[in-house]
Amino acid sequence: MSKFFVVATPIGNLDDISFRAIEILKSVDLVLAEDTRVSKKLFDRYKINTKLDSYNSFSTERKKNKIIDLLRDKKDIALISDAGTPTISDPGVKIVSDLYKEFGNNPEIEIIPIPGASAVLSALSVSGFPSSEFIFYGFLPHKKGRETIFKEITENKKTSVFYESPHRLTKALDSLEKFCEKDREIFVARELTKMYEEKIRGGVKEVKEFFDKNSKKIRGEFVIVVSGK
Ligand code: SAM
Repeated sequence: MSKFFVVATPIGNLDDISFRAIEILKSVDLVLAEDTRVSKKLFDRYKINTKLDSYNSFSTERKKNKIIDLLRDKKDIALISDAGTPTISDPGVKIVSDLYKEFGNNPEIEIIPIPGASAVLSALSVSGFPSSEFIFYGFLPHKKGRETIFKEITENKKTSVFYESPHRLTKALDSLEKFCEKDREIFVARELTKMYEEKIRGGVKEVKEFFDKNSKKIRGEFVIVVSGK
């Protein structure tokens, strides 16, 4: 039997990885990484010497066939991304889907999750907004349909979560302000688990004013959580 592990890695703080994840990364025959240079840091820290190859959105049919051949050959493979849980707004969904297409529910090949850090759940877990049901949008489109999605987010009864880049943070806050009541509670999480981790929660107007006054803080990685209507 061969195994294909989908392994979560830290979203910043390199300590945020499970013992099991490290063991698996050490023991598999090959690790597929979104960017091998990024993953090398994790490998150095935990003295992982497993062979690394890249797998990302540019990967070819040839790479897919190579992965399938290795699995047929009873090799174990792990998939990781630059940070967090692979396939969640990250490359990897295609290979997982291709493996089901190729092997179906063949018990000889198992696809196994190794859970761990994910920016969406980390942000949601400290937002204080209801989370038994929530809507995750990943990255919003940059242009076409963007405003329609903001309108939808502000109409949602459930908590909404999305990823945003620093270049578009101000625009995102402007759009939220345009469509919601000024006191609609939102939560912005920045650089979670890292040195400059910061969380700002308040009415949309208040949060926007915070970033207008502290433009130096519009840096790093962001998750935005919007409370339901
Ligand atoms: N698969 C990853 C996960 O499970 O968290 C998400 C990958 S997605 C390409 C990267 C985006 O996630 C960033 O642009 C940012 O919006 C968010 N993100 C990742 N790490 C973060 C962090 N440490 N703090 C805040 N947001 C983060």
